Amino acid sequence: MADDYIHTEARRSWLSDTVTALCGVKYPASRTERVWITWNGPTCPRCRRIKKENR
Ligand SMILES: [Zn+2]
Repeated sequence: MADDYIHTEARRSWLSDTVTALCGVKYPASRTERVWITWNGPTCPRCRRIKKENR
């Protein structure tokens, strides 16, 4: 499940209160505050790869 990974935020929409990750996963913005602070889960491999390629 996507929720098991920490995704890298690509875009945040305050209008819809949704965060879009690099890999395309969307989740509620209100939930991310906690996710970003709790930085001890596995990083989403797809987000990580996309981030690398963008460098
Ligand atoms: Zn991801």
